[in-house]
Amino acid sequence: MFRSVYLKLTILYVAVIMAISLFFSIIYYQSSVRDLNAGFQRQSDALHRSQTGMMFFQQSDFQTVITQQLDESRDHVFWELIYVNFIILIGGAAASYALALYSLKPVQDSMEEQARFTADASHELRTPLTAMRTETEVLLRDKKVSIDEMRSQLESNLEEVGKLERLSSALLTLARHEHAAEMAFEPVPVQDIWEDAQKRLVAKITQHKAVITVSANELSVRGQKDMLVELIVILLDNALKYSKPESEIDLSARHDGHSVVLTVRDHGFGIHASDIPHIFDRFYRVDRARSQSVDGYGLGLSIAHQIVQQHSGKIEVTSEPGKGTCFTIKLPKAA
Ligand code: ADP
Repeated sequence: MFRSVYLKLTILYVAVIMAISLFFSIIYYQSSVRDLNAGFQRQSDALHRSQTGMMFFQQSDFQTVITQQLDESRDHVFWELIYVNFIILIGGAAASYALALYSLKPVQDSMEEQARFTADASHELRTPLTAMRTETEVLLRDKKVSIDEMRSQLESNLEEVGKLERLSSALLTLARHEHAAEMAFEPVPVQDIWEDAQKRLVAKITQHKAVITVSANELSVRGQKDMLVELIVILLDNALKYSKPESEIDLSARHDGHSVVLTVRDHGFGIHASDIPHIFDRFYRVDRARSQSVDGYGLGLSIAHQIVQQHSGKIEVTSEPGKGTCFTIKLPKAA
């Protein structure tokens, strides 16, 4: 589909270039011919006035020479312009194609990304629905089904519904951040972000028996509090999900020029170097088979990345398999 769009755009660019080139060529040709005529007319008048000049030429010979000269010069200008326009056509076509490729590439990438996203989202939505449908059908066909079996089926359905709810809310968050209008930023104390994020995950932290250390500091960042809390919730939640119970998680902040650097460090399973470039992609989960047992859809880090981008910040990750992972977020410091 894009091949024909590239071609159409190239033709359009070439048409514009050639229209401008031909317009100026016609103007140049007409003014050159006018100048030539005027020049020859002046020479002819000068010769007429000079007695010596007319001694060498008959009136008619002179007129023939002038006409010949004029025709030759006109042809010369004409062919030169044809030659120049031909070069502009070839060069313009090559440049137009390159320009079409350059200007349409981001559109093509974004459309491909959108198609991939839709396919992944549909797949993730279908999986729990298919599971629910199959299990319910099997149960309905069984004439001797007991109340306990029905109860356990309903519980399993409820679990799948919970997954669907979490997925749709992650998708909504992603869409909301993508089309977020201009946001009102305010100074947000880092301490508040750490505290609110921990409050939201208190049940998981207790269940995990995680030891969370927070480095005390008075720093503030410029941003939108709810979004920043959401960002830390995602990173802290991952730190809990991808490390053994009772492990330590460090939250710290330091200032670096006009920025504040927040760090979320865990001592968990870590991420392989080959996976690191992809973890911020939507629906990317490291080792799907292993991650299957851990709740998630591979959307958390893409939301985190979006939030950081909206704050004109930067998020980086370093990790060592078996030793742990460290997410570093650089955000603008509050004035
Ligand atoms: P998920 O919902 O799967 O957690 P994310 O987008 O939050 O999705 O993370 C993408 C993948 O990156 C996860 O599946 C996990 O394999 C890996 N990952 C993220 N954070 C960590 C971490 N702190 N330690 C180890 N692996 C992590």
